Amino acid sequence: QTLLEVKGLKKHFNLGKKQNLKAVDGISFEIYRGETFGIVGESGCGKSTAGRTIIGLYDATEGDVVFDGKNVHEMNERERFDFHKQMQMIFQDPYASLNPRSTVSEIISEPMEVHGMYKNKRERLERVYQLLEDVGLNRDHANRYPHEFSGGQRQRIGIARALALNPEFIIADEPISALDVSVQAQVVNLLKQLQREKGLTYLFIAHDLSMVKQISDRIAVMYLGHIVELTDSKMLYNNPLHPYTQALLSAIPIPDPDVEDKRERIILKGELPSPINPPSGCVFRTRCAHAMDACASVKPEWQEIEPNHFVACHLYNKKVTGDHDFSQVAA
Ligand code: SF4
Ligand code: MG
Repeated sequence: QTLLEVKGLKKHFNLGKKQNLKAVDGISFEIYRGETFGIVGESGCGKSTAGRTIIGLYDATEGDVVFDGKNVHEMNERERFDFHKQMQMIFQDPYASLNPRSTVSEIISEPMEVHGMYKNKRERLERVYQLLEDVGLNRDHANRYPHEFSGGQRQRIGIARALALNPEFIIADEPISALDVSVQAQVVNLLKQLQREKGLTYLFIAHDLSMVKQISDRIAVMYLGHIVELTDSKMLYNNPLHPYTQALLSAIPIPDPDVEDKRERIILKGELPSPINPPSGCVFRTRCAHAMDACASVKPEWQEIEPNHFVACHLYNKKVTGDHDFSQVAA
C-alpha cells in the first residue's frame, strides 16, 4: 500500500544570469507504508534537496507529491497542517539542528506547542519523558542542554523531537553520517526498533551504500538529479545493472575478512559534472566506461528489466543497442 508518491519532481535553483541549478531534475517513485526506502548517491547528487522538497521545506519547481492519497498542491489548510504533522525530518548534524539555548525538554516540546497538542503542561512533560525513554534516554536528561550530550545522544534527541507529533513518515537525511562508527549501528538499531514499535515509514538518505543497504527495503540510486536505478536492496546488491550502481558497490569492502576480495574496484573517471550544465543524453555518460554514441544524444528510458527492478541505461535498451552483448556489463 502506497503512502507517498513522488511524480516527476523537479527542484531547480535560479542562480541569476540565466543560470539554473538543476538539483533534482524529474524523479518519480512510490514509498509503501511501513517500509524503509533508501536514496543513495554521492554528495551533490540532489538527494537532500529531494528530501527537503518532498517535506515542503522547498517549493517544487515541477511535479507532484502525493501523501496518503492527497496531492500536497491540492491540500486545504487543515490537510496541510495534518501533513506537516505526519511527515517529520531527522537531520545529519544533530548539533546544528538543535537550538543550543533550549533545554532538551523545550526542544522536544516545541513541535507539540506549535501544533497545539497537550495544552496541559504536565501532560506535555509526561509526553517528553515518554519520548526520551523511547529513544533510549531518560527523564533526567530533560532539563539539560544539547552541548552536554555526545553526538549519538544528540541524534537521539533529534529523533525524539521528530517523533513528538506521532508522525507516520520520517525523512532521515544522513542521520548517522556525522556520528562515530561505533555509535552508528546503535542509532540504526534504534530507528529500526522505533519503526517496528510505531509502524513508521522511512525515507533514508545517505551517500554510503553499505549504510543504506543495511536499513532499506528498497533503494533508489541517484546521480546528478536523476534516479538511475531502483529495486529492492538484495537485488541491487546481487545484480546491479546501472554502471554507476556497479561502481558504488565495487567500493564497498566485503564484510567477511576471511573472504578474499577478488572484485575489481571500478574507479569513476572525472568529476561529478555541474548540475548547472548537466551532460546531454545520459547524465552519467562523462564518467561511464560503457558510454556509446547514443548516450550523448538520447536520454535513457526508465525501464523495468525484471520484476521491480528499474534502470535508466541504454545498455538494457535493445532499440538503442541492437545486439549489444550484455554479459560484459554484469559486474
Ligand atoms: Fe553509460 Fe550510456 Fe548507460 Fe549512461 S546510458 S550509464 S552512458 S551506457
Ligand atoms: Mg546532503
